[in-house]
Amino acid sequence: MNGYLGTILRVDLTAGRLWDEPLNEDYARGFVGGSGLAARYVYDMVDAGTDPLGPDNPLVFMAGPLVGTVMPSAGRYSVGGLSPLTRLWGEANSGGFFGPELRFAGYDGLIVTGQAARPVWLAIVAGRAELRDAGELWGLDSYATQERARQALGEPKARVACIGVAGERLVRLGAVMNDAGRSAARTGLGAVMGSKRLKAIAVRGSAAVPVADAAALQAVAREVNAFAKEDMASASIRLAGTAGALDVSLMYGDLPIRYFQQGEWAEAGNLSGVLMAEQYLNRGRACYRCPIGCGRETRAPRYGVASVDGPEYESLGALGTLVMVADLEAVIYANHLCNVYGLDTISTGSTIALACELYARGLLTAADTGGLELRYGDAAMVHRLIEMTAHREGFGDVLAEGSAALAERAGVPGLAAAVNRLEVPLHDPRAFAGLAVSYALSPRGACHMEGDMYGVDMGQCPAPELGIVPGDRFDDTEEKGRVAARQQAWRNLYNALTLCQFQNPGVDAVLAALNAATGWGWQLEELMAAGKRIVTLKRLLNLRRGLTRECDRLPELLLQPLAEGGTEGRVPDVAALLAGAYAEYGWDPESGRPAEETLQRLGLANL
Ligand code: SF4
Repeated sequence: MNGYLGTILRVDLTAGRLWDEPLNEDYARGFVGGSGLAARYVYDMVDAGTDPLGPDNPLVFMAGPLVGTVMPSAGRYSVGGLSPLTRLWGEANSGGFFGPELRFAGYDGLIVTGQAARPVWLAIVAGRAELRDAGELWGLDSYATQERARQALGEPKARVACIGVAGERLVRLGAVMNDAGRSAARTGLGAVMGSKRLKAIAVRGSAAVPVADAAALQAVAREVNAFAKEDMASASIRLAGTAGALDVSLMYGDLPIRYFQQGEWAEAGNLSGVLMAEQYLNRGRACYRCPIGCGRETRAPRYGVASVDGPEYESLGALGTLVMVADLEAVIYANHLCNVYGLDTISTGSTIALACELYARGLLTAADTGGLELRYGDAAMVHRLIEMTAHREGFGDVLAEGSAALAERAGVPGLAAAVNRLEVPLHDPRAFAGLAVSYALSPRGACHMEGDMYGVDMGQCPAPELGIVPGDRFDDTEEKGRVAARQQAWRNLYNALTLCQFQNPGVDAVLAALNAATGWGWQLEELMAAGKRIVTLKRLLNLRRGLTRECDRLPELLLQPLAEGGTEGRVPDVAALLAGAYAEYGWDPESGRPAEETLQRLGLANL
């Protein structure tokens, strides 16, 4: 089967059993790979009552058909399963080298079920997999875990995905970490790994990924590499990382400040990616075969840390502007702590910011926090709360449940900036109205990685062949809702391919690469149909888990107009945008359920 190794490794941790299973070719053709294919497998394995932290919740690691080929920037992998934070479909993806190495080791993906009696780790070398005792790894931070697993394996070039202390302690903001500080962070899947007592997965191999037309794929790769050299957006993130977007984002009012309640803050410019490059950058880093190289290795000498992975734009916002810390070195250190403990920086920063807001409103007091005073702008407090969250220590045990739980505990559930219990990322739908659809209909809760409408309206990733064109950022009509739904479907396909979303060489190049790898001979319309099929499958999974039409909403906090800044007085018309999106997807606008004819058209009628 071109584009695939054709094998999935199944791991039953309860029984301590491992076996190879042929990849389901129908699933691969329908859902491609990555988070799409992971969702298709998970759909068969869970029901309404499955406990995300119980043995029956599968944890799936899945690469896409371009991973490990010559296609540039296609080195990602997805992690999928039920989220312990949202109780709905959970997914996250990460770059680095783990995804390609998994394929070189002989597998398109892994499906892990059950729960080990004692901590274990999984070693996979050239198609041979075994479970090993993780007694000596348990309790280590994410960096030491990766190093120790490589040493134990005697494979210095093995790639390791693992959890830190946060995942072990079932912190619902726990990430899966790989390749030093890269992370599949969102939706708390690190806690799922912890619940299975699976500390790490190390992979090493040299298998070649079979492709249908190697010459054609090589030609696409040359074209994409040439594009990346010329493309302005690529040049910008090569120079300043994703942090380079911070200044522009501030100008648009896209970067949330003071827990989404302030439109301007002069000090926020201190967190700029350009300053970071000038003052704290050790070097740039790239994932497997990536000509862009947006990765940052920075330092925080004041805290005695010589090497930090990141921070990314999202982390600068979550651990900086949301909590009103404009000391760049302190934010770099906060990001480092999240990497070390294995925490999602977005959800962690946002939950701490909510705690500051509750404290400011008198809804939390020192009696609740064990004597800690929570104040916006206190970097040392942020660092301390990250440590307490990771260890579930004192008030950290409350933060470890996430912001929706924190707001409910304080009696103000509407104050949590979360959609379906996943914290909103650092892009404001008041600045780019189409994001209302991206967040309200995202299969995993508020998600900027499956519907980056800020990128579309800034002209960074147009796909006119698919009807995805830049427009007025405040346009909140039904037509804009349709565009946002198409972008959401397109990015779901990207995450199935597992192609990096900073690589936008155009629809034709992506289609040519997919066809060259798989030999499927798809046309444009099949690309969009696959994206919509994947979104709709995840929707069905969430409906089964209890999602209703009423869940398709933005948090109340983001529907309050701000008095100043780039979004002054603006609030998107969510109802109009959603009406357009339901029409685009073929979902019933009253019930939010996919219509029967939609399921037929997408080949999902049997679900
Ligand atoms: S652009 Fe950045 S995240 Fe994407 S593949 Fe390249 S280095 Fe990795």
